[in-house]
Parts: sequence; C-alpha cells; structure tokens
Amino acid sequence: MHTTIVHISEDLNNLLPPDCRSIDFVYTFSGNPSIKHLIEAVGIPHTEVGQIEVNDIYVDFKYKVQNGDQIKVWGFKNANISNLTIEIDQEVRFILDNHLGKLAAYLRMLGFDTLYQNNFQDPELARIASNQKRILLTRDRHLLMRSIINRGYCLRSQLPQHQAIEVIKRFNLVGKSKPFHRCLRCNGFLKPISKEAILDKLLPMTRRYYDEFYICQSCNQIYWKGSHYEHMLNIIKQMEA
Ligand SMILES: [Zn+2]
Repeated sequence: MHTTIVHISEDLNNLLPPDCRSIDFVYTFSGNPSIKHLIEAVGIPHTEVGQIEVNDIYVDFKYKVQNGDQIKVWGFKNANISNLTIEIDQEVRFILDNHLGKLAAYLRMLGFDTLYQNNFQDPELARIASNQKRILLTRDRHLLMRSIINRGYCLRSQLPQHQAIEVIKRFNLVGKSKPFHRCLRCNGFLKPISKEAILDKLLPMTRRYYDEFYICQSCNQIYWKGSHYEHMLNIIKQMEA
C-alpha cells in the first residue's frame, strides 16, 4: 500500500467527509490510480475541481498518483480560474436533472438557455450534456462523476432561489441576465407582440393595466411586466448583490 497527503480547499468542504475538512489528511491507495480517480474516491466530482497541485506543480486529471505525493485540490471559489477546464466565454447553456423544475424557471427567467424535462434518465442527461456542451446542474454528485460529463455543478442548497444564486456565482453570470428573453414554461424565445393582437386572450385587469406584452415563439404563452416582474427584478438584484 502507498500513502499520499491530501489537502482540499475549504469551498469543497461540504462535499467531503467531516474528518477530511480543512486539514491535510492521509489517503492510502494501491496500484496506479489517476488523480481524478483519487479525488472522486474522497467524494468530489471532477466537475467541482478547478486546480490540482502535486508537489507544488500544477497537474491535470490524467496525473498518476505516486507514493509520498503532496496533493492540493481547489474548487472554483475564484470563479473561472482553472488549469483543468477551459471556461469558454460563450453563452452558457444548462441541462437540469429531474428534480430541479423551480430552478429551471429561475434560470429561464434570467434568460439563460435551460433544458429541463422531468423524465430524463441519468444516462440520457449525461449524453445530452456531453453532446450539446451543456452544463449539468444536479444535487446528485454521482451523476457528475460520469466520465463523459465535462462541465457541471453540484448544487449545495435545496432552495431553488439559493440554487440560482449559486449558479450565478459559480459561472460568473453577474450582469449577464436577460429578463423577458426566454419562456419559463418551455425555454423558447420570447418576442414582443402588440396588445391588439392578443386582446381576446387577456383577462380584464391585465387588459386594463398593461400595454407591453411578449409571446413565446414556441408555445404561445403570453408575458407582461406584472407583479411577477417586480418580484423577478428583486431576485436579480439580490443575486447580483
Ligand atoms: Zn414557451
């Protein structure tokens, strides 16, 4: 058997067993594991890892762990700083696992491309995330450990609004929201529509108090800047605080 000393940065503490948090701990291994295997064996999906140093040198996931190595692992606390993942500056696109319907609505409300269905199975989620280069959001760390997943994030909170804030921070999305851009129901694009064109579809109070409307180009859902709009602006303000 061989041993190595491992230190994991504090932003990953809640993915670690309590006795491994904020300390150097000894990891015992046999054979010739990759560092990716070692990190996932202690409970951290590779998608959560921003940087790895072995004996003060940056390495990638393919590095083979040696007896006596001193290993340091960092998360993404300094968002987008990584020697492992290229965080390309392009439109972020998400896919959410089956339990995250409310988070999907928040992300669509903010205008982000968010694929969500409540009937995707795990292999399908992983395949779509990989093929479409979508960021997989889930609370299931084992789903993120699948090797075809390149980018993902393990949500810490169980509260949808807090989850949205986590995603904004992790992927550096402050200031990138586009309200009234996507449909909350289906992720389709919205476009402005004249009040006259939809007059017969509006409830009397909406007809009376609002003049600016949008329609989903995919499912025809109608949106206007009502009380939910004020609520949305407050949420965005909170997220970007
Ligand atoms: Zn729609």
